[in-house]
Amino acid sequence: MAGGTDLLGGLKRGIHPNAPEVVINIQTIPDMEYIKEEDGALRIGGQTRLRDIAENEVVKTRYTALAEAARKTASPTLRRMGTIGGNICQETRCWYYRAKDNYFDCKMKDGKECFAATGDNRFHSIFGGVKGCMAVNPSDTAPALVALDAKVVTSKRVIDAEKFWAAHEYGLTALEEDEIVVEIRIPAPAAGTKSAFIKYATRGSIDFPIVNCAVMVSPENTRICLNAVAPNPYRAVLAEEVVKGKVIDEALAEAAGEAAVSKSKPLAKNKFKVQIAKTLVKRALLACQ
Ligand SMILES: Cc1cc2nc3c(=O)[nH]c(=O)nc-3n(C[C@H](O)[C@H](O)[C@H](O)COP(=O)(O)OP(=O)(O)OC[C@H]3O[C@@H](n4cnc5c(N)ncnc54)[C@H](O)[C@@H]3O)c2cc1C
Repeated sequence: MAGGTDLLGGLKRGIHPNAPEVVINIQTIPDMEYIKEEDGALRIGGQTRLRDIAENEVVKTRYTALAEAARKTASPTLRRMGTIGGNICQETRCWYYRAKDNYFDCKMKDGKECFAATGDNRFHSIFGGVKGCMAVNPSDTAPALVALDAKVVTSKRVIDAEKFWAAHEYGLTALEEDEIVVEIRIPAPAAGTKSAFIKYATRGSIDFPIVNCAVMVSPENTRICLNAVAPNPYRAVLAEEVVKGKVIDEALAEAAGEAAVSKSKPLAKNKFKVQIAKTLVKRALLACQ
């Protein structure tokens, strides 16, 4: 447990098939809250609070997508408790998975059925599932880290952010049972780089994303990542190809939005998310003009 804002709610509702016998408070580990630029990278301690990331001047000006993602997460009190490590390791918000007292023996719990596949799937994946489970990754900071080409430094190794989420392969992340996130490392941006994060949620505050999108545009490279649309953060490589080497304008941003969702396979109740994803890609690119 870091800030406990995700974990404790789940434990109190009894959402897991087996409650842990012991919860270890990793906040007692010293020196894991920091933000510094060093050795050509921004280094953020795994226990750094979202509020501190959102308010840090260096993050705001040079790694804007991440500052904005942290600022748009949850509420002031949750950002004061919640950490970046916890944010990228949080569990899905699928309402079948999180039902009180482990009510649904769903696919993510190694059950036989994904209840969202045929049930109320308005907030679920538009890019298919993993092993039949249609739950999505709900993190706001995750797509910013993928767009900014971050590395996740764990107690054992360094993982590309893009490969950090691995729903159902190993659990929700690539972490092993005895491994924790100790640092986030983001390469210093090349001159002229801009980044942006946009979130669409039903409410203006304290609400998980229906869809969010982070974009980084540098003279050499464009990286676009959507989240809450697939089991893992979804890098929109087809949209990146549309933009590559070109000057961004309204028509190009729109074409990139179309490309981003060209492989989507919405479920019965979530076609609206396709339009939102398309629009967020367009708007995030235009914000980097
Ligand atoms: C009302 C409400 C609204 C919310 N809104 C949003 C939102 O809009 N956007 C959003 O992204 N999130 C949202 N959240 C989810 C959550 O609060 C945040 O994601 C928060 O950043 C989680 O951080 P934490 O430190 O509290 O994590 P914890 O609850 O302590 O941990 C979450 C999970 O991550 C694991 N974990 C924590 N730290 C590490 C580490 N260093 N290494 C390995 N594993 C670790 C824990 O074991 C646990 O499984 C919301 C939560 C609530 C209750």
